[in-house]
Amino acid sequence: MVDFYDDKPHDECGVFGYFCKDTNEHLAAYAYSALFALQHRGQESCGICVSNDGVMTVRKELGLVSEVFSQRDIEELGAGNMAVGHVRYSTTGASKAMNAQPIIVHHKKGSMAIAHNGNLTNANELRDEFESDGGIFHTTSDTEVIAYAITRARLTVGAIEDAVEAAMKKIKGAYSIVVMSPRKMIAARDPYGLRPLCMGRHGDDIVFASESCALGAVGASFVRDIEPGEIIVVTPKGVSSINTFTGGKKRMCVFEYVYIARPDSVIDGESVHIARKRAGVYLARAHPVAADVVIGSPDSGLDAALGYSEESGIPYGVGITKNRYVARTFIQPTQEMRRRSITLKLSALKATIDGKRVVLVDDSIVRGNTMRQVVSMLRLAGAAEIHLRISSPPFRYPCYFGIDVDTCDNLIANQMTTAEIAEYLGADSIGYLGIEDVRRIARVENSDFCVGCFSGEYPCEPPIDSGKRKFERKLSERGTERER
Ligand code: SF4
Repeated sequence: MVDFYDDKPHDECGVFGYFCKDTNEHLAAYAYSALFALQHRGQESCGICVSNDGVMTVRKELGLVSEVFSQRDIEELGAGNMAVGHVRYSTTGASKAMNAQPIIVHHKKGSMAIAHNGNLTNANELRDEFESDGGIFHTTSDTEVIAYAITRARLTVGAIEDAVEAAMKKIKGAYSIVVMSPRKMIAARDPYGLRPLCMGRHGDDIVFASESCALGAVGASFVRDIEPGEIIVVTPKGVSSINTFTGGKKRMCVFEYVYIARPDSVIDGESVHIARKRAGVYLARAHPVAADVVIGSPDSGLDAALGYSEESGIPYGVGITKNRYVARTFIQPTQEMRRRSITLKLSALKATIDGKRVVLVDDSIVRGNTMRQVVSMLRLAGAAEIHLRISSPPFRYPCYFGIDVDTCDNLIANQMTTAEIAEYLGADSIGYLGIEDVRRIARVENSDFCVGCFSGEYPCEPPIDSGKRKFERKLSERGTERER
C-alpha cells in the first residue's frame, strides 16, 4: 500500500525517555502517550522498552502507535523504573520490523536500549569497519551502528556515559539519542544539534523527548533543550551534564520549524507556531499580490497563511478542509483512483473560493504532484486566480541528516525554473521564501540553521562519494516504491 497523495518530506523519527527513581507501574502508559504526541515524526513503526531493575522488556512493530499497542501490550510491558520509546520513518534502512526501535543490545557488562532520531553520514564506513573486525549486524539501520560503537567502547571504559562520549567522537552526522543502561538514562545531541531533543521534569522524574509536545502528553514540564555535543546523565542520585567539546554553534534543521515539528512545540526556546507565522509575514513582504482571500494548505500551511494574511491585510479564509478519517494508506486499485486520490483527503470550500483571487500558502513543494492536484481542485471550485506562496525556499538538494528530501532528479525546483513550476502546477504565480528569510523565522541564540537542502551548503560533510551514491540510490528506490 502506498500513500499516493503524500508529497511531503518526512522526518526520520521521534524519541522519548522516562526515568524514575522508584518502580512505576504507569511507565509504559507514559511512553505510549508520548509516542502518540510524536506520531507526526514517524508512522512506519514504533516501539517501547521498559526496564525493571535492568530487566528489559520490549514491544516494537510496524504500524502506528494506535495499531501496535493494545491495552494488554501496555499492561504486559509492566512496571519499571525507566522506559524508552520510538516512532520511526526510515531514511536509512528499509521499512521492516527488524529496523523498528528501540534497539536492545545484550553485552558482557549488561544490556542497553537505544532510540535515535537523525541520520549518520558515516554509517556505511563504520559498519564496514566493524564488520571487518568481526561485528555482526542484525538490522540495516544506522542506529545499530551507533549501538555497536557504544557497546564496543563500553567494554573498555568504566561507565556508559564514557562509552557514549567515545562513540560520539566516531560517529558523524545527525543524532539525538536516548540510551538506557541497567541503572542510568543518557540523552545526547550531535555537535550541530541538527535534530531537536529536550528535557522535562514530572515530579521527581526526568523525561526526554524529541519535542516539548510529548512532555505535555505525560504531564511533565519543560526544563531545557539538550545543547549540541552535550550528554545528560540521569541516575538515582540526580542529573549531570557532560560537555564533550564536540559541539559548536547550533545548526538545527530549519525545516523542523517550517514543517516537521508540531506547532505547539517549543524548540530551542522558539515556538514552532510563531516561527511559521513569521515565515508568512516575510513571505507577504517578499511576494505581495492583489488578492481577495488567503488560505492555508492543511495542516502545516495554516500558520504561515495567518502570518501572510496579517501582514498583507488580505482576509484569511478556510479554503481547504481535510478529511481526518482517511487512513494513512489505503488500497487504490485503479490508475484513475490513484489520480484522484487527493480528493479523498482534501476538499475545496466553494463558499470561500468561488470567483475569488486566492493566495494559497503551503510549507513546501517537493515533486509537485500533490500541489498540481490541489490547484486543479481550487480551479474546479471557481477560483479566479491562484497565487502560490511557499513558506520555505525551493528544495534543490538532498538532505543527509534525517529528512527524506529526495534525489535532485525528483525535486521539481531542481528541474524547472520558478515560472516553469507555476505553469506546470497551473498557478498564476508562485513565490518562495528566500534563504536569508528562512534563516530568521526562529529567533534562537547562537544559532545559524542548517539550510542545506535549499542552498547545497551543509553544516557538516555529506557522506563521502560512495556512501553518498548508496544513500541517494536508496532514496531514489524508496521514491520509486512510493510512486509505483
Ligand atoms: S538539509 Fe534541509 S532537511 Fe536536511 S537537516 Fe538541513 S535544512 Fe533540514
